[in-house]
Amino acid sequence: MTKLGVIGWPVGHSVSPAMHNAALQAVGLGWQYVALPAPPADLPATLAALPGRGYRGVNVTIPHKVAAASLVDDLSTAAREMGSVNTILWQGGRSFGDNTDGAGFLTALQAQGFSAQGCCALILGAGGSARAVAYALVKAGALVSICNRTPARAEDLLHSLAPFAPRQSLSSLPTEGLAAALAGADLLVNTTPLGMAGGPPGSPLPAGLLPRRDTWVFDLVYRPEETPLLQQARAAGAATLGGLDMLVQQGALSFALWTGQTPPLHVMAAAARAALRGE
Ligand code: NAP
Repeated sequence: MTKLGVIGWPVGHSVSPAMHNAALQAVGLGWQYVALPAPPADLPATLAALPGRGYRGVNVTIPHKVAAASLVDDLSTAAREMGSVNTILWQGGRSFGDNTDGAGFLTALQAQGFSAQGCCALILGAGGSARAVAYALVKAGALVSICNRTPARAEDLLHSLAPFAPRQSLSSLPTEGLAAALAGADLLVNTTPLGMAGGPPGSPLPAGLLPRRDTWVFDLVYRPEETPLLQQARAAGAATLGGLDMLVQQGALSFALWTGQTPPLHVMAAAARAALRGE
């Protein structure tokens, strides 16, 4: 049987098996998608063994995305420029690494009619997901500002994105500058774990700070679906998008790469939502 999977450490909480197995069933493919727990030291050997065990492809998740980029034969432009891989395809005796996180984020926005071209985007956080989001936004022609509690990390991110973005399209700001930046933002993206179940509680926006009514607010946190930030944003009249939208779109792009089939988006969203709710 052809197999797919998600490799991470830990990976037991992932909703990807439920989402992809529902999609495989919906398009009539008798393949199986499984969780593949692997500690960092085992990643090279595990990846090398998978094609021989019937694997066509895998998703790669925390903490392996950067290491995986140096363990494949070929890289997509996005994976090479981001230095990070979230999808591997084995084909014709070679391994191909791609990164669908940024494109998944952008596709979720575009599906709502939001155009990133020329918009002012404010990203909270400067970790792995901020890198994918910032990369996708600058490539789409947005002006991107990054605000992180550790300013040096935001600077590092700007530095690594500089080769792919016009100089004036990337900036960072201290948390004291958040109110002014928020007032000018067309899009606010939370890439911190604030508000995530089991993570630090609360909203990444300090009390009293609200987005404009016409600002779009995208919270990458998907557990819970209704985060404190999204509640704040909705109360302010802003349009909102939750992390599930990105999760489904990045998964759909991986699914299309492995299967060559049109991903059944509604089936994937319903299965991911049910898995998140423990149904
Ligand atoms: P990460 O690499 O660990 O980065 C986390 C960032 O958040 C860092 O910049 C960190 O700041 C900041 N941060 C952490 N705790 C904070 C706090 N208490 N207050 C203020 N800032 C804080 O994590 P990641 O992989 O980017 O993931 C971040 C979130 O995005 C997670 O909730 C994850 O589930 C979600 N996510 C969702 C999707 C999706 O498809 N929807 C995809 C990827 C990730 P420092 O630099 O100062 O440490």
